[in-house]
Amino acid sequence: MTSPFPTPGEAVGVDVGATKIAAVRVTAEGTVSARARRATPGRTAHELVGAIGELVAQLGGDRVAAVGVGLPGMVDARTGALAFAPGLGFARAPLRAMIADAVGLPVVTDNDANVAAWAEYRLGAGRGHDHQALVTLGTGLGCGVVVAGRLLRGSHGFAAEASHLTVDPLGPLCECGKRGCWGVSASGATIAALGRRAAAARPASLLAGLIGEGSRDAGEAVTEAARGGDAEALEILERVGTLTGTGLAALANVFDPAVLIVGGGPVAAGELLLAPARVSFAQQLYSPGDRPPVPVVAARFGADAGAIGAALLAVDTAAGGPAAVP
Ligand SMILES: [Zn+2]
Repeated sequence: MTSPFPTPGEAVGVDVGATKIAAVRVTAEGTVSARARRATPGRTAHELVGAIGELVAQLGGDRVAAVGVGLPGMVDARTGALAFAPGLGFARAPLRAMIADAVGLPVVTDNDANVAAWAEYRLGAGRGHDHQALVTLGTGLGCGVVVAGRLLRGSHGFAAEASHLTVDPLGPLCECGKRGCWGVSASGATIAALGRRAAAARPASLLAGLIGEGSRDAGEAVTEAARGGDAEALEILERVGTLTGTGLAALANVFDPAVLIVGGGPVAAGELLLAPARVSFAQQLYSPGDRPPVPVVAARFGADAGAIGAALLAVDTAAGGPAAVP
């Protein structure tokens, strides 16, 4: 029989995406003890809060200390309100207060990349380093920066929007109106789009065959084709890796991190992506010979990063740790 009392240090972490919501229950040591997921409902804050409440209850939310929620948009660090989320269909909602009312627990809300960065800082590839940055290559590009052991939120909570750093001045047009933003030039979606284009141009290639099978997404097909020696798939990963290195160098020049972490699906390509990123990073970092090396490494956490990080951030904030300071 499970204890009816709150388990100190246990928390539920929720990662809200545009299409699905993933939730995990995490022990004080950061181990996932249960998980649940469902489709992202409707287009209103009330429907989203209802869905989060159900997931928390499903994971034994009456027996945890806190709930953390990562949101795909800009979150006001002071109030926990959602300011803007292009994929959710609503904005300007006081989500932290609404979720706290629904679950009856202390709740932390933050940007999804920020909570993923917290997972890497606390228990992942950046453990032990108080200055670090994570970029996640996904549908877009997420970024979270830890400075002096705290998440960098800026004066409003909107810091670390590296997706709109220019990495390729002649690159594709971004929804923000500029050309060559990192998020449209070197994200997971970029790899998938370039892969589909290359496959269409060369239907007899290994890449075209793998995409044509339809059993994996185009980005995964690029990685697999590159491993199989497909020249264009290798070139796509090299291009995206190189532009990622450009963005990482900008982050390092500004924040002077001890480590830079790259996450998201494309990291499955390993050195095929990271090696060109390191070359380009070293070329563009200011005075690399006069500073200690800054490792560029793969994230430890995969698809769970956001949910685990949200749970850890909730626990740390409830405990009054340094994460609680915006
Ligand atoms: Zn942009």
